[in-house]
Amino acid sequence: MNDILYVTVPCYNEEEVLPETSKRLKAKIESLIEKGMISSQSRIVFIDDGSKDKTWQLISELCNADDIFAGIKLAHNRGHQNALLAGLMTAKEYADIVISMDADLQDDIDAVDKFVEEYHKGADIVYGVRSSRKTDTAFKRSTALAYYRILQKMGVDIVYNHADYRLMSKRALEGLSKFNEVNLFLRGIVPLIGYKTATVEYERSERFAGESKYPLKKMLAFAIDGITSFSIKPIRFITGLGFIIFILSLLMLVYSVIVKIIGHADSGWASIICSIWMIGGIQLLSLGVIGEYIGKIYSETKSRPRFIIEEFIKK
Ligand code: UDP
Ligand code: MG
Repeated sequence: MNDILYVTVPCYNEEEVLPETSKRLKAKIESLIEKGMISSQSRIVFIDDGSKDKTWQLISELCNADDIFAGIKLAHNRGHQNALLAGLMTAKEYADIVISMDADLQDDIDAVDKFVEEYHKGADIVYGVRSSRKTDTAFKRSTALAYYRILQKMGVDIVYNHADYRLMSKRALEGLSKFNEVNLFLRGIVPLIGYKTATVEYERSERFAGESKYPLKKMLAFAIDGITSFSIKPIRFITGLGFIIFILSLLMLVYSVIVKIIGHADSGWASIICSIWMIGGIQLLSLGVIGEYIGKIYSETKSRPRFIIEEFIKK
């Protein structure tokens, strides 16, 4: 018997792209069924992440018109990663393989064939990797590269140029379900699951319509999450910095005592002001970094649900 494939697509205010996305995905899934690569029980699952526009209305219309579509409505907006998790955790109950992708058609749908082929060759996780970043602005490209480098330095193992376009087998998803963290950074968690993996290159295009739902502020928060959820190196760094400054201050103490004894101690206003500002700045920064981690502990210990499903339509 053929494997059942579910494609999960998180949607936040995506009324502009949904009609086109659903049409193309349906054609793709039907062609795969025809080729005998997947079961006819396969589905496309749209997850409405508390959209304010007609997204859910469109999804439920699709579900009513065609059995190939299924829909999950989250009780309110929880962000891309949580919406994706809601889709994955629901789909794993029914599917043998699940592919996650964005709603805006930036991820090349034709790569799905290769994903499934790699799965049949034995991979449990297949990463979609962007072959180039031509469609990105120079700013996004350079910050993305710098960010990957920083993550690597901090010892976080992520796949370069891979976003959340990937295939996971049922048992990989079972593995994922055992990670209970509230601060989700799926890109960092998935490589921790293990199993055989493969990568498929694809060309990432422009958003089909509408605007990015990831403004700079959300992107920064996501980036900080990526570091603080997987590495304690920043805290180590602060400890190191504190140690160095402590040594320096001892040297300064010796120096100032010597100067005092020799009798050259003059007003020294500039050096005092400088050190006050610098030490103050470093302390604030350090407190901030430590605060990030404490905030994380705070939200993890409450272990609130990562998503709440209001409605689930599947025939
Ligand atoms: N998204 C979501 N909830 C949010 C923000 C975004 O489900 O709070 C979805 C969005 O609908 C899209 C995907 O996450 O399918 C990626 O978002 P987007 O394309 O806006 O991000 P970008 O490609 O610009 O990084
Ligand atoms: Mg996008």
